[in-house]
Amino acid sequence: MHFISTRGGGAAQTLSNALALGLAEDGGLFVPETFPSLAALPPPGLDLAPTASALITPFFADDTLQPELPAICAEALDFPVPVVATKHSNTEVLELFHGPTAAFKDVGARFLAACFARLPRDSQAQPLTILVATSGDTGGAVAAAFHRRPGFRVVVLYPDGRVSPRQAHQLSCFGDNIHTYRVQGSFDDCQRMVKAAFADAELRAAVPLSSANSISLGRLLPQMSYYAHSALAHQAKYGEPARYVIPTGNLGNALACLWARRLGLPIGEVVLATNANRVLPDFLASGDYRPGPSVSTLANAMDVGAPSNLERLRHWLPELDALRASLSAQSIGDARLAAVIRESEDRYGHTLCPHTAAAFAVIEDRRAAGDDGRFIAVATAHPAKFDSVVEPLVGHAVPVPSALAALLARPAQASALPADDAALKAELHALG
Ligand SMILES: *Cc1c(COP(=O)(O)O)cnc(C)c1O
Repeated sequence: MHFISTRGGGAAQTLSNALALGLAEDGGLFVPETFPSLAALPPPGLDLAPTASALITPFFADDTLQPELPAICAEALDFPVPVVATKHSNTEVLELFHGPTAAFKDVGARFLAACFARLPRDSQAQPLTILVATSGDTGGAVAAAFHRRPGFRVVVLYPDGRVSPRQAHQLSCFGDNIHTYRVQGSFDDCQRMVKAAFADAELRAAVPLSSANSISLGRLLPQMSYYAHSALAHQAKYGEPARYVIPTGNLGNALACLWARRLGLPIGEVVLATNANRVLPDFLASGDYRPGPSVSTLANAMDVGAPSNLERLRHWLPELDALRASLSAQSIGDARLAAVIRESEDRYGHTLCPHTAAAFAVIEDRRAAGDDGRFIAVATAHPAKFDSVVEPLVGHAVPVPSALAALLARPAQASALPADDAALKAELHALG
């Protein structure tokens, strides 16, 4: 299996090279040269890791990492991803927040780290620096996944004051080979600084860099596993394909669901729930793609003005009608997110994070329009991670899961950094 660029340029790459490069040479995103098919679906009832391994095998075909795939999946996917009931019998929740940093980003970050650790590297070489800009959850997941891994260092940039206090603590609590910077600017500034560093040949010659952002195949592929795992169980239990409503920002999580369906998994409708950043719903409605600066919302991990994985989707389905037949999208504003969080304990028996609330709002609108069928809402983060938003709305403290509590108990230390490309470059040189 080889991987080509969505922009048609550059050479086809092996999986290992595509992982190491992150982005194709022409600036496009890697997609399979021909989308694989599965000889047979994995049986329902398998654990997550073997399910993942069965799905991802064709993507690893002929690569040096292929024999390692079962071990990579076993190492990375070692926490539960349960589908749980709510008080509304046809609304279930796929909980993706039982990993070390309490958000679904753990799945991709841990798989990517397990792959990177097995890629051949010169043992005498300098550590590889994984450079990440984060709007909140990615940085923590990547830091946790690479913490104390020999041969790696992580540099995290987050926008100071624009992540929740607990996210900020979690981004800054690792120490050792993790270096965290609070940037005096926006997430867009952080992304620009990272891009400038990657584009700087002189810097990269001195400090080997790699990325772990949401366009990496190493994050996308394992995210198919929890859709496959839950859809197979759903089909076995109810005799019908599973329908998902997915909180969406950069479209990485939702694209994995669409890829799982494309592989033949029993997945029906896929509905995207965005926050007030409505570029995706507007694009599907009008056919006009208008990326813009992001606006800040209560669901900050979805504050994305130019969803990066859309490029993969448009490469796959260039016709608007085909896109519309594959997915739909709806935007939910902050006032509605707050209302859903306030009522969800009574209505569903669940406390929701602001991102997950967007999915519930979309399902409520479908109910109001007369759709009483089964939906699975995807819970992308634990509500305790967003205590400053959720607790005032529900009127009590949200219990903190033990993995998150362990991170919050560690001292936090982040360095301030101006929103300036040269400032980041100087820091990276200083790390050596
Ligand atoms: C990253 C994130 C999202 C958005 O996921 P994408 O793959 O960028 O669409 C939603 N919710 C939470 C909690 C996240 O961390």
